[in-house]
Amino acid sequence: MVSTSSSNAYLPLNNEVLLTRLGRCTDLPSPVGVAVRILELGQDPDVTLGDVAKVISLDPALTAKLLRMANSPLYARNRKTENLRQAITLFGVEGTITLALSFSVVNSLKDKVDRRFDYDGYWRRSLAAATCAQVLGERIEVRNKEDLFLCGLLQDIGMLALDKSMPELYQQCDIRSGHAGVIECEHSTLGLDHAEIGAWLLGRWNFPEKLQAIIAASHISEAAPMESGAIAQLINVVALASDMADLLCGRNSKDAINGVMRRAEKVLGLPQEAFVETLAASAEVLKDIAHLFEIRVDDQIYLDSLLNEARELILLRNINVMQHSTTLARAAEALEDRTRRLEEENRRDVLTGLYNRAYLNRFLDEEVGLSSRHDWPVTVMFIDLDDFKHVNDEHGHLVGDEVLKSAARVLETNTRGSDMVARYGGEEFVVILPGTGREGAEMMSDRLLTAFRAKHHLLDGRDIPVTASIGAATHGEEHEFASVEELLKAADHALYTAKRRGRNQAVFFPHSPA
Ligand code: GH3
Ligand code: MG
Ligand code: MG
Repeated sequence: MVSTSSSNAYLPLNNEVLLTRLGRCTDLPSPVGVAVRILELGQDPDVTLGDVAKVISLDPALTAKLLRMANSPLYARNRKTENLRQAITLFGVEGTITLALSFSVVNSLKDKVDRRFDYDGYWRRSLAAATCAQVLGERIEVRNKEDLFLCGLLQDIGMLALDKSMPELYQQCDIRSGHAGVIECEHSTLGLDHAEIGAWLLGRWNFPEKLQAIIAASHISEAAPMESGAIAQLINVVALASDMADLLCGRNSKDAINGVMRRAEKVLGLPQEAFVETLAASAEVLKDIAHLFEIRVDDQIYLDSLLNEARELILLRNINVMQHSTTLARAAEALEDRTRRLEEENRRDVLTGLYNRAYLNRFLDEEVGLSSRHDWPVTVMFIDLDDFKHVNDEHGHLVGDEVLKSAARVLETNTRGSDMVARYGGEEFVVILPGTGREGAEMMSDRLLTAFRAKHHLLDGRDIPVTASIGAATHGEEHEFASVEELLKAADHALYTAKRRGRNQAVFFPHSPA
């Protein structure tokens, strides 16, 4: 007998024959290699960006895939993500873990070939479900959406386990009627379906309980019950993504499209037009990321006719929008939002809204540590406004304050999301550029100096010009500083030299004397 520990909480225990067969099956799919290490990370509540970077960087292929994912339309922002450090900032620590797990699980399981079972179709549908879950999650702004992609991807993993332990099962089924046909056949043969087996399997792999619960519930056809609490919305999105994947993988009739569209409206409050947009966006993303998973999709998506049919249905139908009201959940979210806002405010400078010096110190400590451990550079820039006393003298302190705010915006708009901009004090700012060495930092300082020169600070009908001087130092390429203080001191000294040399310029450590 297989143990009845919490790992099989989602299986009805009276189905002993099935449990025994599954338990005895030596060939059950299981993740290997780096996937196992990443799973361990996922269980550590104190996991840090550095831990994640360390494990992922062991696998260069995985690192490359994450970078390409970061630059795919699913995540890409206006600036290119150039290294792992920037990618982890973009995805967040949890998001990185689940994405890395997605890649490595597919990688460990995908090459199994079996003549009876349509593995290509299986993975195509799974990736479609993962993509739809992610795009849908973004669209309706689900909280904690990091797990959606992975849940979408693995929601049918139970099929692989069933196929291994009962090779005859799917031959008995008429699976032409799509996923619903598979589920019906499993129910009539086994009394349960692959969602429960999938959850059981994830339990064996030590996946977090939350993921097991979401996958166990992935076949519900109504809205998830309120008892599911915080994961209710995730369950709804994953279940709907499964239906959307069916549409994208070509098995669809008008009735099917109509059914999914109505369900999206009823369960998620997603208007029908928005559903069609989400479906179209998912198809585009799917085409774009499929090659990262070595899965072929291009010929499989009959998108135009699918979307046309969906739009036709919208036109024909009398739209009856049922807003799903979850007042309680919203109140809880508002409270969480408030806490997060307060925490964020503590890190901010009151006048400019930039990060304050206390937070800068913490951030810099962490970045210098990461830089030393992972051998990537980090650059610190001191930026001091030139002759600012004259601005105050000439226009008054209040106008001076406004110019400081305007200067802060110049810094923010000319740096990238993974950089950090802080007010160090007075009219002095610090920009930290993680993962950026001297060459990149020089480009950045040119850009900032130019932006300051071109900026018109328009106040009370007056145009007040202000230039800046920059002092910078890079830790990690040619020079390892003994401490954060030494690094700051080097950048500050470079700034002093820039001032001595006439202002409105940048000086990099090491430099000749002033
Ligand atoms: P330098 O080019 O050498 O940096 O000349 P500077 O005049 O900018 O430098 P200094 O450090 O001598 O003077 C800084 C001025 O910035 C003096 C101070 O009144 C002004 N300042 C500092 N903090 C604030 C602030 O919060 N608001 C305003 N309006 N002015 C500030
Ligand atoms: Mg100054
Ligand atoms: Mg100063």
